[in-house]
Amino acid sequence: MNSLETIKNNPLLSDEWKMPPGIPLSQGEKRVLKLFDGADAEDWEDWRWQLRNRIRTKEVLKRIISLTPEEEQGIDQVGEKLTMAIPPYFASLMDAANPGCPVRLQCVPRLAEMITSPEELVDPCGEEKYSPVHGLVHRYPDRVLFLVSETCAMYCRYCTRSRMVGEGGHTLNTATYDAAFDYIRSHKEIRDVLISGGDPLTLGNNMLEYILRNIKAISHVEFIRIGTRVPISLPQRITPDLISLLKKYAPIWISIHSNHPLEITPRVQYACQQLADNGFPLGSQSVLLKGVNDDARVMKGLMHELIKNRVRPYYIYQCDPIIGSRHFRTSVTTGVEIIEQMRGFTSGYAVPTYVVDAPGGGGKIPISPDYIVSHVGNKYVLRNYDGEHYDYFDV
Ligand SMILES: *Cc1c(COP(=O)(O)O)cnc(C)c1O
Ligand code: SF4
Repeated sequence: MNSLETIKNNPLLSDEWKMPPGIPLSQGEKRVLKLFDGADAEDWEDWRWQLRNRIRTKEVLKRIISLTPEEEQGIDQVGEKLTMAIPPYFASLMDAANPGCPVRLQCVPRLAEMITSPEELVDPCGEEKYSPVHGLVHRYPDRVLFLVSETCAMYCRYCTRSRMVGEGGHTLNTATYDAAFDYIRSHKEIRDVLISGGDPLTLGNNMLEYILRNIKAISHVEFIRIGTRVPISLPQRITPDLISLLKKYAPIWISIHSNHPLEITPRVQYACQQLADNGFPLGSQSVLLKGVNDDARVMKGLMHELIKNRVRPYYIYQCDPIIGSRHFRTSVTTGVEIIEQMRGFTSGYAVPTYVVDAPGGGGKIPISPDYIVSHVGNKYVLRNYDGEHYDYFDV
């Protein structure tokens, strides 16, 4: 029986989905859970427990994985830059013995984060420049990015918003939300509001509802999107209560940030299943990261996992040049080659768009393999995915 069948056949889950979903704990999960005195499998299912018990120190992390000197020094030094926080669930996916583990690379600080390269910027996408009110970025004609939280379940070491995320700031609150609602209300061209952060799903349901209700009340807003990593880093957060809350404000499209097939666990599959069954179109966003997913086989594997779980691959981002990100960044050529090795070789649905968010505020710029070999007069020479050339005569 595979894990999804285990879920479906669980008597706890008959018609009504009840918590806990009763997904058996993996060996890795059991191992990590044991480190928390007095905690049991029910705590493990509780997203608030997971948040409260996030791994924040070297001492606790050392009990889960054997840290390299590069990691130890990283944890010691990144403190005030971007704090470390890893939910026990996510930590259970790490390979204790392999410093190259793709899960580990994404969330355990390394000393290389302290090195600044000349091309690096605090705000690489120039979001502040396009921010009419605090927490709102109006970069494109008909849509806005609405930052509602500075907190995430887990802090990704390459985070494009590392300037603002973490446990310190707390500059976003109902006052900034109200100013954002006013702005959206007075700009009738805004038909699409993308709620992000930080991670919106780390907010409590009341605050989330406050935000959704106010946006939904603006008649020219046609739909809402939520950008989140929580279904991956803290899938326990996708509770029946959250789902029924979100359903009230449909249509809501949900973009899930995921970078490696190892992240798509039975628990994540279950969270996606709940979201998809309840009518939320799911998309994905991934960041191209050296050592994590800068390989066409890994990326294709991830996209296949996503498709199987009704998540439509949407974007692969070139890793933004935030301060201390050189060790994560790959060449743009690598990104293009990955797309080239997917397009035609697998389902078109599984191929996302590769984008570079232009430094300085240019927005997302798609970069695609070039399939035009030559173009003279009305004659195009095109190449197909397999490298064969075909002539096409234009009108
Ligand atoms: C990514 C982004 C959006 C949404 O862009 P789409 O291409 O429509 O997904 C909107 N505003 C900002 C500032 C963004 O960075
Ligand atoms: S979840 Fe998103 S906002 Fe939060 S740390 Fe990761 S990349 Fe940054």
